[in-house]
Amino acid sequence: MRLLVIFPCYNEEAILTASISPFFSYFENLIASNLIDAESKICFVDDGSQDATWQQIISFSQTYVTGIKLSTNFGHQKALLAGLETFQNTFDGYVTLDVDLQDDMRCIEEMIKKYQEGFDIVYGVRNDRTTDTSFKKNSATLFYRIMKAMGVKTIPNHADFRLISNKALLALLQFPESHLFLRAIFPKIGLKSTYVYYKRLQREAGTTKYSFKKMVSFAWDGISSFSAAPLRWILYMGIFAIVISIILLVWATVNYLLGNVIEGWFSILIVVIFFGGLQTFAIGVIGEYLGKVFMQTKNRPRYIIDKTHGIQE
Ligand code: UDP
Ligand code: MG
Repeated sequence: MRLLVIFPCYNEEAILTASISPFFSYFENLIASNLIDAESKICFVDDGSQDATWQQIISFSQTYVTGIKLSTNFGHQKALLAGLETFQNTFDGYVTLDVDLQDDMRCIEEMIKKYQEGFDIVYGVRNDRTTDTSFKKNSATLFYRIMKAMGVKTIPNHADFRLISNKALLALLQFPESHLFLRAIFPKIGLKSTYVYYKRLQREAGTTKYSFKKMVSFAWDGISSFSAAPLRWILYMGIFAIVISIILLVWATVNYLLGNVIEGWFSILIVVIFFGGLQTFAIGVIGEYLGKVFMQTKNRPRYIIDKTHGIQE
């Protein structure tokens, strides 16, 4: 089998050369043991780094190394897409892996075996996250739970470490969304899929490139791109509000007819504030979706390639 391993890299100069050299030997071993073809390759996608990441990529002398430099920072997901799309129909299988090697590369062997058994998508799933901070773990658990509640199918504890066949890749390319959230697209593709399990390791050097802001926006992308449930919830909230107001109206009328004096302004104030808030919130959520529709109708390219390395046109 001809394999392509794709590494997205964003400002990884601190770690790239050091973390990748064990991978090179691992990769050469795969070739030597005939698990993969000699024409197999590694592709580094530089996601608009401002540091020396690209210089490091082009300095690798290994013949199987290729590189793609994006024109600016498009984000992890689009960097992966750039690598995959560029090499569609060229390989039998594609593995995507983070450059910090937190996801255990030794799983690739097992993934290849699953591919040979006829699976089109092999998901890497972490069954031990003890090396993640408790914040990262808890926020991730909460996120998978919310996704499930909204009816979005994701694979818990699966990030973007997976092997896909060319068939699965071509299927992926039929999804034109501008807000990419790969780990929820693959379960939608269907095809024959399976899992391999591994323990998540520590980042060797450098810091996480997912700031809190990026994490939240990634999670919201995942929810809002795959589920219209929040829109439905607004509808329910609206119905709820109407029912409450009718009950209040009946209550007030009955009291009025019975000759009771109702303390007016305070309750009115609360109600006004409550519904004012509810409406603003509702408009905000609708705006979010509208924004997505707006961005999608623009049909903008999802990434732009600045230059490549080791790829014949
Ligand atoms: N990454 C990227 N573009 C970005 C952010 C991250 O290509 O805008 C890459 C990064 O270089 C790494 C992978 O995506 O190879 C995962 O990032 P990181 O390890 O920082 O995330 P974490 O493991 O902390 O979730
Ligand atoms: Mg990482």
